[in-house]
Amino acid sequence: MLDTLAKLSNNKLIDKFGRQVTYVRISVTDRCDFRCVYCMSEDMEFLPREQVLTLEEITRLSQAFVEMGVTKIRITGGEPLVRKGVVEMLAKISKLEGLEELVITTNGSQLVKLAEPLKQAGVKRINISLDSLDAEKFKKVTRVGDLNVVLDGIQAAKKAGFENIKLNAVILKNRNHDEVRNLVQYAMDQGLDISFIEEMPLGAIDSHSREEAYYSSDEIKRDLEQQFELLSSTKKTGGPARYYNVNGYNNKVGFISPHSHNFCDTCNRVRVTASGLLLLCLGQEHSMDLKRVLRANPIDLNKVKQALIDSMAIKPKGHDFDLTEQPVIFRHMSVTGG
Ligand code: SAM
Ligand code: SF4
Repeated sequence: MLDTLAKLSNNKLIDKFGRQVTYVRISVTDRCDFRCVYCMSEDMEFLPREQVLTLEEITRLSQAFVEMGVTKIRITGGEPLVRKGVVEMLAKISKLEGLEELVITTNGSQLVKLAEPLKQAGVKRINISLDSLDAEKFKKVTRVGDLNVVLDGIQAAKKAGFENIKLNAVILKNRNHDEVRNLVQYAMDQGLDISFIEEMPLGAIDSHSREEAYYSSDEIKRDLEQQFELLSSTKKTGGPARYYNVNGYNNKVGFISPHSHNFCDTCNRVRVTASGLLLLCLGQEHSMDLKRVLRANPIDLNKVKQALIDSMAIKPKGHDFDLTEQPVIFRHMSVTGG
């Protein structure tokens, strides 16, 4: 059965709209040392440990994906770097034949200690979240984070020599929308790319109304153009990001705009939650329980591959975010893996 299907799809994960999945984001934990207001509520209940995929299970799953044509894996969370053993796991995944890019998204809190080991483990690129350059505002957004620790972490990442470091900032009206120019200036001065992300309605939060806090990519771009000349770039990711070169600098500004720009036609990605749920779309509930398959078949990877092939039949055409209905998706981003 697997042979026939694998031959039919040429060992690739192709959905019924003809889109090939080549990029997987895996959340290795739902836990975090920060409590960002757009991502978590103040009192979060985390998954019991036995419900979270083990590092061995994540490694096997990564192997199955790579053997099915996935060339890029992003390890995320929660905060991936608070999980014990994650660097050793990354070293194993980076050696999978056929994997071109192993990348990670982090809040930067552990980078002073872990930037160099991550580079040694084969992580090529790193995304670091940074929503504010004002220590007080940073604390308010993250509830507990220390800006200086993250800024030191960014320096450690630069020193470790990753191929690329990108900053990510979620912009909320009246919290940090007035910082977009400072953030771009900082990124350009440091020789880093930066992307601005529109807040997505993932999970219930208690700090603000998502509708009122919405600050669109177009508004951010308009603000930036008072200070910078943005030149449209041809860079494409298959995702929701549009990139611009900043005249006079070597780095790019990106806009991740799930609300104002539809990107589903070229979607090349799926996500795996910390509990091993394969999510076929960030903004829909279509999913498959991979933990069950992995635990029922601790030796036979073909069964896992078969499940991945089967899942392609339920990848939806696109998302349907609506900020006026809260929450549209009950999973928090920390569970989904941003
Ligand atoms: N803890 C790591 C970090 O903060 O970079 C990795 C996980 S975090 C969930 C990944 C990204 O998702 C971060 O850049 C974060 O800002 C973003 N994020 C979290 N909740 C979001 C939301 N509701 N809407 C848009 N982006 C969100
Ligand atoms: Fe933690 Fe990242 Fe969510 Fe912030 S965005 S609470 S750092 S998982």
